[in-house]
Amino acid sequence: MRKKIIAGNWKMNKVISEAEQFLNEVKTSIPSSDQVDSVVCAPFLSLPALVEQAKGTDVKIAAQNMHYEENGAFTGEVSPVMLQDLGVDYVVLGHSERREMFNETDESVNKKVKAAFDHNITPIVCVGETLTQRDANETKPHVEKQVKAALEGLSEQQVKETVIAYEPIWAIGTGKTASSEDANEVCAHIREVVKTTVSEDVANEVRIQYGGSVKPANVDELLAQSDIDGALVGGASLEPESFLKLVEAGK
Ligand code: PGA
Repeated sequence: MRKKIIAGNWKMNKVISEAEQFLNEVKTSIPSSDQVDSVVCAPFLSLPALVEQAKGTDVKIAAQNMHYEENGAFTGEVSPVMLQDLGVDYVVLGHSERREMFNETDESVNKKVKAAFDHNITPIVCVGETLTQRDANETKPHVEKQVKAALEGLSEQQVKETVIAYEPIWAIGTGKTASSEDANEVCAHIREVVKTTVSEDVANEVRIQYGGSVKPANVDELLAQSDIDGALVGGASLEPESFLKLVEAGK
């Protein structure tokens, strides 16, 4: 049985005091991490306060991006060494907004995934198709290519620990969710890709989230699918009450 993982991706929202207030409100009600992994993916500036506040609780903290180089002349970037030093648990990599607006490529995502493992940070790797690709029946080959590229060169153990988030781009922030069956079909395909490229054992253990307009009203149905092991949630993760409902659903 794969433990579910529910991650709230705040994107570019909340100043530090709002982030602290959020964690204060949720931390005592978060279910035990024996039952579900609950993750808050926050902007860099809030990470120190959140990591501190999350100590001794069942909330895990994630960054939303990082560079793959350890240090040097990369103005404006944050390195895996810095995130490891801070004590973040996860990092979201290759989110479609970063691929689309900040020129992330399959190659840079792969470098970041490796850098995350080198620094004891668990990557949440995002993949997903555009509406044009879906309409042209290119969803599976596109997602397959992204998954293979992201996992290239990892050890079996590392692939097992990677969290893959399937996020159809047309469903992000639009209120349109992929039907549970469609979402599951792509997640099952991703598992098949892991099976053929790595092993059946690893495929059975790797956790695959769905993301794209997940909310308390549709999370149960999505999580009930055979190959969906969690959710990466944007908009509906911003309010403590809604976030708590989502993580409860993962129990
Ligand atoms: P959304 O965002 O839940 O607001 O659609 C999901 C995501 O981008 O991770």
